[in-house]
Amino acid sequence: MAFLQTHEISMRFGGIDALNGVSISAEPGLVTGLIGPNGAGKTTLFNIITGLQPPTSGQVFLDGRDVTSMSVYRRARLGIGRTFQRLEIFGSLSVRDNIRVTVEVRRRWSRQRIDIKHETDAILARVGLEEFAKVPADTLPTGSARLVELGRALATRPRLLLLDEPGSGLDAAETEAFGLLLAELAQDGLAVLLVEHDMDLVMKACSHLMVLDFGELLASGTPEEIRANQQVQDAYLGVEEPPVGGITEPGLAGAGTLP
Ligand code: ATP
Repeated sequence: MAFLQTHEISMRFGGIDALNGVSISAEPGLVTGLIGPNGAGKTTLFNIITGLQPPTSGQVFLDGRDVTSMSVYRRARLGIGRTFQRLEIFGSLSVRDNIRVTVEVRRRWSRQRIDIKHETDAILARVGLEEFAKVPADTLPTGSARLVELGRALATRPRLLLLDEPGSGLDAAETEAFGLLLAELAQDGLAVLLVEHDMDLVMKACSHLMVLDFGELLASGTPEEIRANQQVQDAYLGVEEPPVGGITEPGLAGAGTLP
């Protein structure tokens, strides 16, 4: 069994099947991409893996252990870290304090001896934010603010890191640097699961991709295999309706094209 393994996860919201029997996996040392058009169920799956939402059915396994009924904080202690699609940082705190408070929280529940200053400095260096350490987080441009959120997730010392659209709002240079940072984190032994619409980032950063569409796992494979997959292309481009009165209906997905 993989380090992270979801088994046949289904999630029903009223009449909507947000997820239907989805089994995905992620392994240490790899950046795994979870992609799919808007509304495919990616964030819902993240919420189920982290414990924010119980699935309608199915199981989540971490390192062989069934964590499906476990609370969010217990999963965090087991090593599940996460960032959010909408930035979730403490805006009025400095960059340093954003990370320090998380290191402090971890010291409270960890059995390890943790030097808060040393650990905070190491994380600031890891995400390249030393020069902004004293700046209030809400004054940072989006690219740097996303690094604060990443740093805070790293401060929990995760073994599995779930990143929900970390590339949104980043310029080309920031995206490139972010991709390299993800590769380094994976090399350090983290299992990284990346939800992302920026296909350049996905194709460069990920060694394996899983594609969700309308709550189902549509395809899984290397970036090259996924790029060549006709079903995936159709899901991304949308199936065009015949022209009505000379106007072609836009595609269903609106998630962009595969490069
Ligand atoms: P995006 O790429 O736009 O973030 P996504 O792939 O993350 O989309 P989800 O946000 O997981 O998709 O949504 C999957 C489906 O479930 C959508 O139809 C959405 O409207 C629905 N959904 C998600 N959360 C809820 C909820 N709390 N209540 C009702 N429906 C929900």
